[in-house]
Amino acid sequence: MTTTANSLREIHSLHQRSKAIRDRLLSVPKTIVARQAQVARKQDTLDKAKKDIQQIKVSKGLKEVQRKSLLGKIDDYSSKLLTVKKNEEYKAIQNEIALVKSQVNKVDDEIIDFEIDLEDRDASVKLLEADLKKAQDDLATYQKQSTEAKAGEEAKLEELAHSLLNAEAVINPDIREQYQRVIRQRGAEAMAVVESGACMGCNMSVTSQMLNDLINCDTLVFCRSCGRILYMAEEMEKMTKRIV
Ligand SMILES: [Zn+2]
Repeated sequence: MTTTANSLREIHSLHQRSKAIRDRLLSVPKTIVARQAQVARKQDTLDKAKKDIQQIKVSKGLKEVQRKSLLGKIDDYSSKLLTVKKNEEYKAIQNEIALVKSQVNKVDDEIIDFEIDLEDRDASVKLLEADLKKAQDDLATYQKQSTEAKAGEEAKLEELAHSLLNAEAVINPDIREQYQRVIRQRGAEAMAVVESGACMGCNMSVTSQMLNDLINCDTLVFCRSCGRILYMAEEMEKMTKRIV
C-alpha cells in the first residue's frame, strides 16, 4: 500500500483532534487551581471587610460609653444647680453644663459618622458575599461539568487512537518507523500541509522534486527547514490529478 495524501491529511487531522482533547483535559486541573486561588482571595477580602466593621463597631461603642458618661456629668451638674445658693456659683455650673453639652454634640456627630460608615460597609460586605458565592458556585459547576465531560473526552481519545491505528496502516511499512519516530518526538506538530508550494508549518517553499515526491506518495517528504512530514492540500491534490 502507498501513502496517499488523503491518508496523511486524515492522520494529521486525527493527531490534531487528539491533541486538542489532551490539551483540554490537561487544562482542567490548572483552571481549578486558578479558580480556587480566586475564591480564596475573595474570601480574604470579605474577612478583612468584616474585621474592619468589627473594629469600627468597637470604636462606636467607646463613643457611646463616652456619651453616657458626659450625660451623667450633666445630670450631676443639674442636681447641683438645685442646691446652689450663690448666683456666681449657679452661673459657673451652667457654663460647665453648656461645655459638656457641646462635648455631647461632638460625640453625637462622631457616632452618626460611624453609623453612616457602617451602613456603607455593610452594603459592600453584602456585595462581596454575593461575589464570593458566585465564584464558589462557578467553581463547583466547572468541577462538576469537567468531571462529567472527562469520561466522554477519554472515550473520544480512545476512538481517535483507534482511527489513527487504522489510518496509519496505510503508510508504507518501509517508512512507517520513520513516521512513528517523528510523531513520538513532535506529536501533532510533526506534520504540515503544503499550500501554494510552501510548508504551512514554517512557510518555507518546497522544491519541485519534493512536489513530485508528494504527488507520487512513495516516500515520506520532510520539510527541509522545519523537518515536518509534508502532505498536499486537498485542492492541490485535485489539481495534480486533473493534470495527470
Ligand atoms: Zn516546514
